[in-house]
Amino acid sequence: MKKKIAIIGSGIAGLTLANLLKSNSNFEFIIYEKEEAFNLKEGFGIQLSVNSVYILNKIGFSKLNKNEKYNPSKLDFYSKNYNKICDLDLTEFNSENEKYTTLKRSILIKFLKEKLLTNSIIFGKKIQEVNQTNEKLEIQFNDGSRDKVDYLIVADGIYSNTKSIIEKKFFKPNYYGAIAIRSQVRAEDISNLNSNNISLIMSTDAHLVLYSVNKQKEINLVCIIRKKLEDNDSIKTILENTIFKESKNLVNLFNGELKSWPIYTSNKPIKSIYKNVLYIGDAFYTFPPTMAQGASQSIEAANEIFQLISDNNADIQNEYFKRRVARTNLINKRSKINYFGFHISNPLLKTFRNFFLKRLVKNKNFIQSYLGEIYK
Ligand SMILES: Cc1cc2nc3c(=O)[nH]c(=O)nc-3n(C[C@H](O)[C@H](O)[C@H](O)COP(=O)(O)OP(=O)(O)OC[C@H]3O[C@@H](n4cnc5c(N)ncnc54)[C@H](O)[C@@H]3O)c2cc1C
Repeated sequence: MKKKIAIIGSGIAGLTLANLLKSNSNFEFIIYEKEEAFNLKEGFGIQLSVNSVYILNKIGFSKLNKNEKYNPSKLDFYSKNYNKICDLDLTEFNSENEKYTTLKRSILIKFLKEKLLTNSIIFGKKIQEVNQTNEKLEIQFNDGSRDKVDYLIVADGIYSNTKSIIEKKFFKPNYYGAIAIRSQVRAEDISNLNSNNISLIMSTDAHLVLYSVNKQKEINLVCIIRKKLEDNDSIKTILENTIFKESKNLVNLFNGELKSWPIYTSNKPIKSIYKNVLYIGDAFYTFPPTMAQGASQSIEAANEIFQLISDNNADIQNEYFKRRVARTNLINKRSKINYFGFHISNPLLKTFRNFFLKRLVKNKNFIQSYLGEIYK
């Protein structure tokens, strides 16, 4: 008999897993999403490193219209006033079919959802209770409906309240002490930068990342600024007190519509009290955004679960947890190092950082170990 899998949440993690499961006729799956529809309007970008592009290619990502994505070849580092420090070659990890890729998040979601049958996703659904009877999980939803499944994969993001319901205790993410500001920038406003590459501008207590999201060179801007949670200043005031104070000529990057939100990260990953419940993506662990690995790790985790379930592994929960925690710890450490380095405020430390950065990006052994371990 086919095994039934319920996936909670139709973000990158949940949709990737569903696409992988589609290829195995031993399973039937259903996605339960709390929203009433997909939000495909936002044009913000996402970076995908080769580790996740490799997995997405298994479900046809290489065939996605080439105009809808972009393959930057370098990461350019700048200090204030567009002073270029050095660059890192991103193609070192590329192969013919797997390349470091940037695109709009909405294009990725559209690609993932188009490959599924419309009845694979049920919108407007939230879990109210989960119970185990024999080997099966019984799910009860807010609207009174029920389902009985073999596996429950929770992919409902950073604020995962499904986790609190299932584990019967309250989980709360931690404020990371920073906010993200996002916008879209016109190519003419970045004439000081090379739009073929990813640009990383390091300011005091803040950094900016700009990259093209498609062949038409629409530019995505994301800016991370240290900020206390209780400080209620407007986005404009925050920018004036931080980035603009140091580099007046960055003002024209912020002419478009600006959106901001606080950055939260997770406490330690947990194993469920039920052996056939698995957490995935941001619901498993949410990283600081300074390694740009959140989406890529969601995709990797989906692939790990798919492999373990397909192989009928005898100890899925422990095997998955062991590998995920090892990956999470590695990436989390690197993300924190990056966060520290990108936000240095002391002028002497900045000089040291720039001095070492110039050497490190050219040191093949260091790059292979620092990034290669993650991109493998
Ligand atoms: C500023 C910033 C920049 C980033 N840039 C990058 C980047 O360049 N590269 C990268 O790899 N990652 C990046 N990330 C991280 C990345 O966006 C996330 O890690 C990734 O989207 C997580 O996917 P997910 O599917 O786990 O969660 P989500 O995308 O959050 O999806 C969760 C889904 O679950 C649904 N849901 C929520 N609650 C319930 C419920 N109770 N019941 C049912 N459904 C529910 C939601 O509506 C949503 O559809 C960035 C993050 C930030 C903050």
